[in-house]
Amino acid sequence: MTKHIFVTGGVVSSLGKGLTSASIGMLLEQRGLRVRMQKLDPYINVDPGTMSPYQHGEVYVLDDGSETDLDLGHYERFTHSPLTRDSNFTTGQIYLSVINKERRGEFLGKTVQVIPHITNEIKNCIRKLADDDVDVVITEIGGTVGDIESQPFLEAIRQFSLDVGKRNCLYIHLTLVPYLKAAGELKTKPTQHSVGQLREIGIQPDVLICRTERSLAREDREKIALFCNVPIEAVIEEKDKDFSIYEVPLSLTENKLDELIVNQLNLPAENLSLDRWRDLIHTMRNPQHEIAIAVVGKYAEHRDAYKSIYEALDHAGIAHRCQVRVQRIQSEAIEQEGPERLLSGYDGLLVPGGFGERGIEGKVEAIRFARLRGKPFFGICLGMQCAAIEFARNVVGLEGAHSTEFNKDTSHPVICLLDEQRTITDKGGTMRLGAQPAHLAPGSKAAIAYGRQVVSERHRHRYEFNNLYRQQFEANGLAFSGTSPDGSLVEIIELVNHPWFVAVQFHPEFKSKPTAAHPLFSGFVKAALEKHLSRGAATQTV
Ligand code: GLN
Repeated sequence: MTKHIFVTGGVVSSLGKGLTSASIGMLLEQRGLRVRMQKLDPYINVDPGTMSPYQHGEVYVLDDGSETDLDLGHYERFTHSPLTRDSNFTTGQIYLSVINKERRGEFLGKTVQVIPHITNEIKNCIRKLADDDVDVVITEIGGTVGDIESQPFLEAIRQFSLDVGKRNCLYIHLTLVPYLKAAGELKTKPTQHSVGQLREIGIQPDVLICRTERSLAREDREKIALFCNVPIEAVIEEKDKDFSIYEVPLSLTENKLDELIVNQLNLPAENLSLDRWRDLIHTMRNPQHEIAIAVVGKYAEHRDAYKSIYEALDHAGIAHRCQVRVQRIQSEAIEQEGPERLLSGYDGLLVPGGFGERGIEGKVEAIRFARLRGKPFFGICLGMQCAAIEFARNVVGLEGAHSTEFNKDTSHPVICLLDEQRTITDKGGTMRLGAQPAHLAPGSKAAIAYGRQVVSERHRHRYEFNNLYRQQFEANGLAFSGTSPDGSLVEIIELVNHPWFVAVQFHPEFKSKPTAAHPLFSGFVKAALEKHLSRGAATQTV
């Protein structure tokens, strides 16, 4: 019988519930258990795909094309749990499904209510992951206990233990234990209140994970245990990690969280072996080199907007024992100050994906700079489209070349809509989404980096390279090194006479893991490191 772990959060948002859930998944997997991960998000948007990365961070795309919350990125980076459309549900999706059923008459004229109709729908979403071949489903509830939006989800997970039996469910509550400087002590009251709110709903948490900047004294844990009605062993400290998020599982297992879970749920677990993970942290802590990469995007001030890209750069750094220092540069600043001043000091340049016209010319200028200076360049999605625009204008000589996303009447639409996209007006879930195969040209930089001829990568875009321009581009030294299997869609472009100028229409960052850096990120960081070393800069950092 599949066991269920529910992870809730209290006191404040941004406590790192996603990371903690992912770390729990990873620890259980390392103990030989088959884990599935899922996030339930209380907001009303039907999916995160239409939400601004300013507000909500990046949209994380799965193989099956679902556009999901960025926490699912943590799940994939930490675990092998296969993620699908059933791994992320929002209030919007739940209500939409219930309302559609009501419209079809499936409730036979009954009054449709939050309890039981919405809560039943939520429980069905959780049950979808509980298969014969699954030992544990970890369901993270987004938001903070006490939010109005979270109520139906909490009610549903409360009912869940009645349905499947108390012994098959474990409630883990993540809270904050703040340090008050003026009082010189850690404060447990917010945790008591937040657990109080959970208990009002009828959920008695089994485990409390306490986020804190200072270690909890035994008295703090005793106090929390007493007031929150949990055994002291179930008060787990999770201290802030100033070095890397990949240390979280190590600290949780040091505090015996996995042992507690395995015992409480009576799981058939093996002994934990984290040698590989420890090696990884050791490599990160002891880099032999350091390089600096400029990421030129629209959202320079929002780290979460390109979350997976930064993670993938870190992974590539691990693969090359190299610390990758990332500087986010707003592309509009390049329009004002010029690329020379802003980009000269970097070993490589990455232009990520994006939407909207703001800052496009800055990206194009930045790419021109990288092309002319022989600086390693990696373009992703919109980054590839900007590279095509730059090449068209400045090498092929197509004045005013543009994407029809930004100039419908351009004389040279080098990037344009596919026919199938022209008639679409709905915004949600209508892009070219999810995993698509690509064939690579033998001997190309891309094929060498992958070490394969056929790859599968995730997409999220509407616009495509316009095939009418292929010949002209090729004649001027640009190679189309990856295409869809029938050759009709351009997937990868690269410059023939350049150390590393590779741009892709897909999003490789979604498939990078700390234990297996994505080949293209690895190739890019390697090229940047070579550039760095050839400049004779001081490279020994340790
Ligand atoms: N805006 C571009 C498109 O829709 C690029 C999308 C992206 O970078 N994800 O094609």
